[in-house]
Amino acid sequence: AKEKGRNNFEFYTSEFNREARFKLELEKSLRRALINGEFDIHLQPQIIPHSETVVGAEALLRWKHPRHGFISPAIFIPLLEDLGLLAGVEGWVINQVCSFGKKLTDKFGELRFSVNISGSHFKTGNLKENIYLALQSSSMDANCLEVELTEDIMIEHVNDSSNILSELKEIGVSVALDDFGKGYSSLSYLKDFPADILKIDKAFIDNLVTDKRNAAIVDSLVDLSHKLGIKVVAEGVEEKQQLSQLMKIDCDYVQGYYFAKPMPVSEFEEFVANRRKH
Ligand code: C2E
Ligand code: CA
Ligand code: CA
Ligand code: CA
Repeated sequence: AKEKGRNNFEFYTSEFNREARFKLELEKSLRRALINGEFDIHLQPQIIPHSETVVGAEALLRWKHPRHGFISPAIFIPLLEDLGLLAGVEGWVINQVCSFGKKLTDKFGELRFSVNISGSHFKTGNLKENIYLALQSSSMDANCLEVELTEDIMIEHVNDSSNILSELKEIGVSVALDDFGKGYSSLSYLKDFPADILKIDKAFIDNLVTDKRNAAIVDSLVDLSHKLGIKVVAEGVEEKQQLSQLMKIDCDYVQGYYFAKPMPVSEFEEFVANRRKH
């Protein structure tokens, strides 16, 4: 038994070392990923359910490691944040989005592109400058840009947040409250936070059809948002029944695999073009 115990211990330590080494390797590669052009942006369409019109897309960061291939954002985003590189990478995302966004909106008319903003980016104070500069150099309309923030950022930065956000809103950039319902979301955020858009987390959408209480909450959330002048996006919509339910309760937009997975910018362009033909 003693033998076995020791082997187990050795197993765990070697496993631990392997993970730690892998993480170190990723960190080393992440430092060069931006200059090496290994990042890319995928777009996931946001759609009006009854007309199936594409109103815009969420920009999602992708990283292709030269040896390990695609790494999940769930892994590399926190690493970037730990390394103090996330704000810089998000600055790059904003620039890219504005530059292809300008081309796409010139071609198709108004579309809104949302970018995810981390707490560290929000804190550095460069967010506003990054956005102003990207809008200026691309000459994309500010109305076509949206920032997505999660409520934990709001909890940490309630005081400074409203200033930056009001200024962004003044120039026409929309503000979305992301992942609502993922944690212990509080309705008071809706009161204090100047959101234009509320994104209901996939966790609420997953049980929409099977769980009546869950459905009642989503229904009320949509009503409440509308009373506050806030539009609602349902995230992670995968099934037709979820879509029908969301249409019944007047949810404004849906995003999810049912209509489309995140895709390269060129594919998004085709996706929009195909839906404008008829
Ligand atoms: P998020 O902001 O909640 O983005 C939505 C995630 O849900 C995306 O995962 C998307 O691919 C996935 N998704 C969308 N529809 C469905 C569906 O129907 N079913 C399922 N199972 N999943 C769906 P992704 O691209 O892996 O991104 C994960 C997270 O990484 C994002 O969650 C966001 O928090 C973070 N992230 C991505 N890009 C950035 C960025 O530029 N900055 C920051 N701070 N975070 C980012
Ligand atoms: Ca998001
Ligand atoms: Ca989300
Ligand atoms: Ca209703």
